[in-house]
Amino acid sequence: MTQPLTIALSKGRILDDTLPLLAEAGIHPAEDIHKSRKLIFDTNHDHIKLVVIRATDVPTYVEYGAADLGISGKDVLMEYNSPNLCEPLDLKIATCRLMTAALKDRELPAGRLKVATKFTGVAKRYFAEQGRQVDIIKLYGGMELAPIMGLADLIVDIVDTGNTLRANGLEPRDLISDVSSRLVASRASMKVKYNQIQPIIDSMAAAVARRDQ
Ligand code: AMP
Repeated sequence: MTQPLTIALSKGRILDDTLPLLAEAGIHPAEDIHKSRKLIFDTNHDHIKLVVIRATDVPTYVEYGAADLGISGKDVLMEYNSPNLCEPLDLKIATCRLMTAALKDRELPAGRLKVATKFTGVAKRYFAEQGRQVDIIKLYGGMELAPIMGLADLIVDIVDTGNTLRANGLEPRDLISDVSSRLVASRASMKVKYNQIQPIIDSMAAAVARRDQ
């Protein structure tokens, strides 16, 4: 018998790009995810279920084996930073950039910088690599406000069109990483459930490749 298999999807912006790609890979939820308050969905495959959770919780579900596969932004995976996870496929959806940003035309202070972000782990590693002394200030949203209010010199945030930064008098400065959504699995389940997981990776890889043509 085919073992059950669960794929954890990130709620929000990524989901809008994920569902069409899943459909192209032949995986269709049994009902409209956007119209339901449910968190678990059956699919057209008897053994495949989808769970829809907060983007930042997807790596946790996958690492602990509660979900077999996940779809996560590279930004979330960089912040989660677990050696137990692997990224078997770049889905090339929900692309954006993880960047530093500051008030437009404002020179940064020479000494220690105050950096506000929800990506505290990424920011710590990035500025350590740059050899720059920083104080990292954890925020949960609305990062753009921090430089305006004098809470921080710099923010680390996701930039897509740059409209949010511009609307708040900020400008992008340095690129930390390009971001796209990735298929994520745990190294352990890739071994134990290889026969289940690999066909899904293959069909999603084929869907991504067809889009590239
Ligand atoms: P924008 O104004 O187009 O630069 O979009 C910036 C905001 O949209 C950021 O503050 C993010 O919160 C959000 N955003 C844009 N693209 C993504 C993405 N691919 N994944 C997650 N958040 C995103």
